[in-house]
Amino acid sequence: MELYKLSLSEIASMIKNKEVRIKEVLDSVYGRIESIDDTLGAYITLCKADAYKRAEILQERLEAGENIGELGGVPIAIKDNICTKDVKTTCASRMLEEFIPIYNATVVQKLEEAGAIILGKTNMDEFAMGSSTETSYIKKTKNPWNIENVPGGSSGGSAVAVAADMAYASLGSDTGGSIRQPASYCSVVGLKPTYGLVSRYGLIAFASSLDQIGPFGKNVKDTALMLNVIAGHDVKDTTSLETETKDYTKALSKEIRGIKIGVPDEFVSEGINGDVKAAYDEAVKKLESLGTKIEHINLEYAKYSLATYYIIATAEASSNLGRYDGIRYGHRAENFNDLEELYRNSRTEGFGEEVKRRIMLGTYVLSSGYYDAYYKRAQCVRTLIINEFKKVFESCDVILIPTAPHTAFKFGEKQENPLEMYLEDIYTVPVNIAGLPAISLPGGFDANNLPIGVQFISNYFEEEKLLNVAYVFEQNTEFKDQKPNI
Ligand code: GLN
Repeated sequence: MELYKLSLSEIASMIKNKEVRIKEVLDSVYGRIESIDDTLGAYITLCKADAYKRAEILQERLEAGENIGELGGVPIAIKDNICTKDVKTTCASRMLEEFIPIYNATVVQKLEEAGAIILGKTNMDEFAMGSSTETSYIKKTKNPWNIENVPGGSSGGSAVAVAADMAYASLGSDTGGSIRQPASYCSVVGLKPTYGLVSRYGLIAFASSLDQIGPFGKNVKDTALMLNVIAGHDVKDTTSLETETKDYTKALSKEIRGIKIGVPDEFVSEGINGDVKAAYDEAVKKLESLGTKIEHINLEYAKYSLATYYIIATAEASSNLGRYDGIRYGHRAENFNDLEELYRNSRTEGFGEEVKRRIMLGTYVLSSGYYDAYYKRAQCVRTLIINEFKKVFESCDVILIPTAPHTAFKFGEKQENPLEMYLEDIYTVPVNIAGLPAISLPGGFDANNLPIGVQFISNYFEEEKLLNVAYVFEQNTEFKDQKPNI
């Protein structure tokens, strides 16, 4: 058995028990990356030299009898919009192509304190705007299940790294589905935590009221182990909340008999691919056979989520991206005659088409005269959506919906039509609008053997329950055992 094929919890315990040296683990994973990443393109930057140095130090500490942490010696990948000290953090944009942060994001610091080794930085849609990783300025990332198809996005690189055994786990960011949707397209587990549970300090902002960092894992247990490490209050992030520290692996195998699962039939009926719907229906049946109680619910406002999301997200993005002026931050144009031209040329050259589209949309909905009609109204609908979820959680423990309406599509298929691309987010954005936690995990395959994900949503800070239901579902289905042939 190749070491890279093992799960995070397996490799962590082998390292701890000295059944394998950390260097051998790195050799195996970097060997895997070197043999297939030219084809897949998951990584933008590799931190090989640093990784080996750290491996040596950790190994010495381990030999000396020290506890090197829950993730001691385990190689992990990080999305390239999360700051890593002295390692390029590009946001897959020309604007930040040469940006080298002088500090670590809190999540990176926490991972390192837990003994993890950073393998490298992964590809993404530019500034996390997209659903296919195609808007990356740097490179294309391909789906390991079929390299003619997209991996999903925006955290496509982080999903592919885990799906193709090029990392034991990874971090992504989820503003409107960017962890869950690529997890679903690549057949891995992806978790978007409750807003405020994981620090955003050092995450390059897209839409601050929606952004949340979360883990990808090869299975639910590994994902819970990652959450254990990254969750928790951070004084450097004013939106991070004081919560009790939990061991999210504790309740994984708890009995789920009697748990109430909300199934929004109407919401899951329109514009959904037949195979995806069939897998969803199977998931409902499976849960019923496991003794849960299926409650048919109505999510009346959820259908407005997409419109609401694309107003709020673009408004916040236009404001957050205002800082890239070629002076304080980012790419600076070489040719300009005056200050205004410096701004204009730097931004024209630095940003790609999708980012520009979002800045224009966001500026429009925030401008006087349109603010009330769009932005303010979207905020009102946001409250309606939040209240609707609150109501549902009075009678349900978790909600089950598909992660995305389709499976991975072909390169170029939706790029010319942004609205079609935005439609891929229909099942993921309601969660961000409400700030709720949700998880996507393998739920089947379509006729072309492309992965299908199912998604559970729980009430605020109920990640334990969410992971418990997901774990029991995973243990009673065989989808996670199927691997891409690469
Ligand atoms: N696909 C969504 C968008 O393009 C979500 C992106 C994200 O979660 N970062 O905005």
